[in-house]
Amino acid sequence: MNKFKNKIRKKVFDIGFDSVGFTKPIVDLKTSKKFKDFLDKNHHGEMKWLERHYEKKKNPKKIWEEVKTIMVVGLNYAPQDNPLKINDLKEKANISVYAKNKDYHVIIKNKLKEFKDWFDREFKLDCKIFVDTAPVMEKYFAKKTGVGWQGKHTNIVSKRFGSWLFLSEIFLSIDLDYDKPSRDNCGSCNDCVTICPTNALYEGSKIDARKCISYLTIEYKGPIPISLREKIGNKVYGCDDCLSICPWNKFSEPTKDKNFLALEEEKDLRFFLNFDENIFKKYFFQSPILRIGWIPFIRNILIASGNSRIQSLSCIIEKYLTHKEPLVRGTAVWSINKLYNFKKTELFHKLKTMEKNEYVKFELNCLD
Ligand code: SF4
Repeated sequence: MNKFKNKIRKKVFDIGFDSVGFTKPIVDLKTSKKFKDFLDKNHHGEMKWLERHYEKKKNPKKIWEEVKTIMVVGLNYAPQDNPLKINDLKEKANISVYAKNKDYHVIIKNKLKEFKDWFDREFKLDCKIFVDTAPVMEKYFAKKTGVGWQGKHTNIVSKRFGSWLFLSEIFLSIDLDYDKPSRDNCGSCNDCVTICPTNALYEGSKIDARKCISYLTIEYKGPIPISLREKIGNKVYGCDDCLSICPWNKFSEPTKDKNFLALEEEKDLRFFLNFDENIFKKYFFQSPILRIGWIPFIRNILIASGNSRIQSLSCIIEKYLTHKEPLVRGTAVWSINKLYNFKKTELFHKLKTMEKNEYVKFELNCLD
């Protein structure tokens, strides 16, 4: 079986993946319980699909009955510069490293398809490929395969690639020798927990997603809790703070795949404030940012603009006070108020007399 495994490994690296490991398709009881506890505490927030797919998460055979070996493959997407530097540039729209170029799902899916075709030709066998497309307990399996260990930020850390690995999975219907799991190498380091602006991480490798800026700016579609808005700073799509601070990143090298390098310098918030839905769709047509939609995106831009303290942005923000979507109007109220610190009383008084929507009224009443 090792002969097959070596052949498969070689192919995975030839296709362009940076890391690979093999393990059995069984989730241990401790991991299932931890996941159940996460759901019971409602720490997954609005990500209801996690509840719906609980049984499949616990048992990969419910995804594909024939699976005998799970391969986890990793792709290095380490940035050239430390993303933490951008946090201080308040006029900039801070976008997560993984979203600064094309949608990685598309790029990785093509690589996985290449593997699948080769595997079919070589072994005359089917295999299943997933890149966030099935409810696989991927971090657990990444640890089991030796690709990395689960850091206190809950993501995978690798000795070679730090926190910067995209993960995907290949299910095989043949038994292969399993790899040794990774050891936990975090030790007493707590940097990722400490740096988290919203205290979303707790008890070593646990997360309350409802507080996580990545969840709030990407998955969550409603009004972002007022208590967390300031902590978001200039982040408009995702957050990399806990990944970026990890000391293991010092061993990582910037990705060689040009598809994962930033396409351009960070844009100013002003640039995106001048967008409309059509421009948003055109500008981000190959980007994962398209997936969240225009309304949550402009909500994020408005929050970052309020946090910027750049008062000159308010003349663009004002147009959003009459936007048809209450979420946009309400966030614009907060944003302008943040820039002017309760000094726009006349403007807000006028809005109060006109506003019918309860949520926007709530935002306006918060200013009293
Ligand atoms: Fe905290 Fe940001 Fe990490 Fe979320 S991504 S846990 S907000 S540091």
